[in-house]
Amino acid sequence: MLRILVVEDEPAIALGLRNDLTLEGYAVEVAGDGETASRRAAETPFDLIVLDVMLPRKDGFAVCRDLRRGGVKTPIIMLTARAQETEKVLGLGLGADDYVTKPFSPLELCARIKAVLRRAAPDLPVRYRFGDVDVDFSRGSVRRAGAPVDLTPIELKVLVALLEARGRLLSRDQLIDQVWGAGTSITDRVVDNHIMNLRRKIEETPAEPRYLLSVRGLGYRFENPDDNQTET
Ligand code: CA
Repeated sequence: MLRILVVEDEPAIALGLRNDLTLEGYAVEVAGDGETASRRAAETPFDLIVLDVMLPRKDGFAVCRDLRRGGVKTPIIMLTARAQETEKVLGLGLGADDYVTKPFSPLELCARIKAVLRRAAPDLPVRYRFGDVDVDFSRGSVRRAGAPVDLTPIELKVLVALLEARGRLLSRDQLIDQVWGAGTSITDRVVDNHIMNLRRKIEETPAEPRYLLSVRGLGYRFENPDDNQTET
């Protein structure tokens, strides 16, 4: 059974989350303040943490940052209540995996949890290199020839989804499910635009991609022609 730590100080929301997630088949533990959350997350291997931002004793940003600094890689979904909080999470510097804006529907949160857990599936190396591109999954950072590549959070998610499936075709629908969440109304054209932007940033000749390949009429596939590249 997958274990989820819910960090939320408002009893009604915490109770609702506990009930919803238990019904979904998860084992749920609730922490009501940031310090308890930090301690529990460091001493217990949870599969995922749902982390509110506004918390007594230590806010969610500090909890997230400290866990990552401490080497805890448990996926984190932040619950944000204000636009500034969302922007901060989207900056990705904190190491959160996703965010959900309050008020949220249980369905939406469950879809995000599933997507994040799928992305966190264990076959992902910590780093992956292809050509002169170096992806550090634990930091969510990408470098090319040693220099940081400025990817948007969505571009990073698209790249990670393709890398996780490397060698396999991902349809646009699969990409949408994994990157934006199941049931999101994103058009194929939006996916194609993100792929084009990614190619501009990581391919030597974006018009003749070597790694991010189109599979005509079906979707995309990441292929590494220098197979058996370094995985650490
Ligand atoms: Ca709160």
